[in-house]
Amino acid sequence: MDKFDSFNFNKYWGPNEYRSRVVFARGSDMQCVYCGETASTREHCPSRVFLSKPFPPNLPTVPACERCNNGFSSDELYTKAFIEVYKYHYLFNSEPRNSERREVKDAQQKFEEFVNSGKIHFDDRISRILIKLAICHITFELTTGFHTDSWDGIPEYVSYTFRPYMQADDIDSWDDFIPINDTIFPIIGSRVINQIYVLELKMLTEDNTEIYEPFAVMNWIDVQDNNYRYICWLDGKNINVKIVIDEFMYAEVVFKGK
Ligand SMILES: [Zn+2]
Repeated sequence: MDKFDSFNFNKYWGPNEYRSRVVFARGSDMQCVYCGETASTREHCPSRVFLSKPFPPNLPTVPACERCNNGFSSDELYTKAFIEVYKYHYLFNSEPRNSERREVKDAQQKFEEFVNSGKIHFDDRISRILIKLAICHITFELTTGFHTDSWDGIPEYVSYTFRPYMQADDIDSWDDFIPINDTIFPIIGSRVINQIYVLELKMLTEDNTEIYEPFAVMNWIDVQDNNYRYICWLDGKNINVKIVIDEFMYAEVVFKGK
């Protein structure tokens, strides 16, 4: 199965009249942000499996149907376990303690294959979860004031890497603020507008006078220190999402507008 198959992008990002369906509200016409069916549950975004106790208060939620709400749990556990197994191996060069959970065993086995082959594998279970997480973040952050009323784009790609594969420079550039400019500008009313900061750039004029040039940037949303952060923005017609889990997995999902 293609990793995008389980999502219904047309229902989610269809014409303007569907827009209200993705904004969470108690009511009978809520629709699942993943498949478009009637939503009967609220889902935490990100799922708590990626966080530690005590959980942060006021975690974002999105409407989801029961099937989707339960349908991702196993792959989410697996994704989290894979990151932990790898991180444990990287930090201590040993195996974490055994778990009887099937997902943890699967992740350990997958990690062994990955170490033996010596290259980053691409895992559909992990990419499915990254797409799912990206969808819930952009639904929550960008929906109100979504500036392309009839966005009918397609998912473009999902990519991820792990800290051991990254140089310090890569990590720095990953963490760069997203500058706000003509093409990247959140609409007033969307939640993500709260993430805008104004920085001042110190510059010297020809006669050595210091001037300060303000510019706006968008910051990362820190769900829980060291465990989970993300940032999402519209860039022209594309929607970009970056997610960092455990400060160890660095993922990017791009949905491309037509
Ligand atoms: Zn659903």
